Amino acid sequence: MSNAPKSVERPMPRASIMEIEAYVPGKSAAPKGVKLHKLSSNETPLGASPHAVAAYQAMAGQLELYPDGSSTLLREAIGKRYGLDPARIVCGAGSDEILSLLTLAYAGPGDEGIFCRHGFLVYRIALLSVGAVPVVAEEVDLTANVDAILAKVTPRTKMVFLANPNNPTGTYLPAAEVTRLVQSLPAHVLLVLDAAYAEYVTRNDYAAGIELVAQYPNVVMTRTFSKIYGLANLRIGWCYAPEAVCDALNRIRGPFNVGGASIAAGVAAMEDGAHVAAAQAHNTEWLGWLTREISNLGIGVTPSVGNFILLHFAEEAGRNAKAADAFLTQRGLILRAVAAYELPHCLRLTIGSAEANKLVVEALREFMGKSVG
Ligand SMILES: *Cc1c(COP(=O)(O)O)cnc(C)c1O
Repeated sequence: MSNAPKSVERPMPRASIMEIEAYVPGKSAAPKGVKLHKLSSNETPLGASPHAVAAYQAMAGQLELYPDGSSTLLREAIGKRYGLDPARIVCGAGSDEILSLLTLAYAGPGDEGIFCRHGFLVYRIALLSVGAVPVVAEEVDLTANVDAILAKVTPRTKMVFLANPNNPTGTYLPAAEVTRLVQSLPAHVLLVLDAAYAEYVTRNDYAAGIELVAQYPNVVMTRTFSKIYGLANLRIGWCYAPEAVCDALNRIRGPFNVGGASIAAGVAAMEDGAHVAAAQAHNTEWLGWLTREISNLGIGVTPSVGNFILLHFAEEAGRNAKAADAFLTQRGLILRAVAAYELPHCLRLTIGSAEANKLVVEALREFMGKSVG
């Protein structure tokens, strides 16, 4: 008898987990002595509501207490703001957690989940985590396409993920197309509408999905406090879902999955409509300005309805996305490389402060003007 451990005998993760490329967050480092402008993670340049900050600080004396495991006050605040039944809202540690829980509840080994070619990477990670098969639907003009999604539906399809608007492309599907998708999907397929950027959209043919959730038992809408509400650091997301979906999520989620300081700050942020309006106005102004200015430099810009834009660079060395990324980083301007999204010639730029936006345009002008090689 030998006590030496046999090297093959060790705990092994589910095989599909080894297919996952771990998510790489946006960079946040600049060269020494250069002012950093982090434009790589779609964070708001306006910060959190001062009321949310105060509510967060007020929790400092109660850190030993477990939070309310049902996030009751937060669900009530969300319900009041959007006219929703709080019983049909589930909160999570970011909408990332909600996406993972939905996948855990509705897909398993061998099941299929569909998302779009340049869709948000978390869907793939969530599906592989439970042993399900990620199925990619092609896009048209970097935009989700209902017919392409429907063409991928098989008897094994359990879920469809649609980021609307999508990150990192910034494109969106009009409400009529999303409705057509729901009406064409088999009733057993769960449609997850990820509306992380809904508050930024100003198009009148857009809808985040509230009406569809109210109408169809197989539609869920996920939302987040990380983007326009400026609370990414507190990890708060939520979904509005049919009763049976909420029931499933409440059975499997961690019993205290949202912290008390997050709940308190989230309530205050939800109630500060003026702060959200200011963030919307800032975004609308600078989204238009950056799109025009950068296009004028000869850089392709995908029209976006979110708080970020996708920039298309040439493929030749010296002028490509990699060179642009290095050039901007030297100036403290940190954008997001999106090769992991199969967009190797692109960079994603978050709409920043007025100062940051102007610096980006100046730097890109310099980059485009310099001679190659
Ligand atoms: C940022 C983002 C989210 C939000 O993630 P959180 O976990 O709530 O911070 C969800 N979906 C998409 C498409 C996003 O870009």
